[in-house]
Amino acid sequence: MSEKMPLGVFTSIWTDFAERLQAVRDIGVHTVQAHVPPPQMRTAEEVEKAKNTLSQAGVELSLVFCGFAGDRYDTIQIVRDTVGLCPPATRAERMPDVMQTADYAAALGVPGIGMHIGFLSEDPNSKEFADVAAAARQICDYCADLGMRLHLETGQETAETLLEFIRAVDRASLAVNFDPANMILYGSGEPIEALRKVGRYVRSVHCKDATWSDRPGEAWGVETPLGEGDVGMEDFVRTLLEVGYEGPLTIEREVSGEQQMRDIKKAVDRLTALKAKLLH
Ligand code: MG
Repeated sequence: MSEKMPLGVFTSIWTDFAERLQAVRDIGVHTVQAHVPPPQMRTAEEVEKAKNTLSQAGVELSLVFCGFAGDRYDTIQIVRDTVGLCPPATRAERMPDVMQTADYAAALGVPGIGMHIGFLSEDPNSKEFADVAAAARQICDYCADLGMRLHLETGQETAETLLEFIRAVDRASLAVNFDPANMILYGSGEPIEALRKVGRYVRSVHCKDATWSDRPGEAWGVETPLGEGDVGMEDFVRTLLEVGYEGPLTIEREVSGEQQMRDIKKAVDRLTALKAKLLH
């Protein structure tokens, strides 16, 4: 990928994939991230189809996200109880699905898989922290063998905890998918400050915006269209460049229907203007 900071969109639905990719192309975007499709759509035949669809649309898939059937995002507490590999009760049964997602992404020639690993313990000396680090290490080794990386999505932990975790996993195939809005939504710290701390590990980003909750960490903040929240998009893009990141700027907007595409279009315009201003 030679273009600096190509724009991207997070497309989470695999039905009407060709139409979705065309819609993305129509607004001048040619990279996407996507959730892994359900197991029946990960066969060799389906991989071939997806490859053809991507190449016909002229769109590059930059990251495939893991998703688990029991993940729920209703409240911060429910996220804590259900999401990723942190809840011990479901960790072992979820691991094979992660490896299958890596296989699927590798078959498509995608360089990494992304994941919300869940709420890491804030105590790096705890057994809980070590157990999750061991699981991540196993995934990193699996990904490394496929020539890929594991990208951890930010937000549910502070930058300090994430750094401790990266140190504990201790694998070069571990990377960060930095989502500045999540830091605000979960109340886990100022995103720009956090980006400076973990910047050297960032290999993908979500361009998403949000406003702070009046009870950070207890109740959600509110996701907003890009540029209308508290992230400070110009600062975000400038800081990405400062930390040496020039990969895709993948827009994520977690609303549905026509509003989603309208907001994504606006985000494309805002980011295009910021790139014109900041990239030399
Ligand atoms: Mg995100």
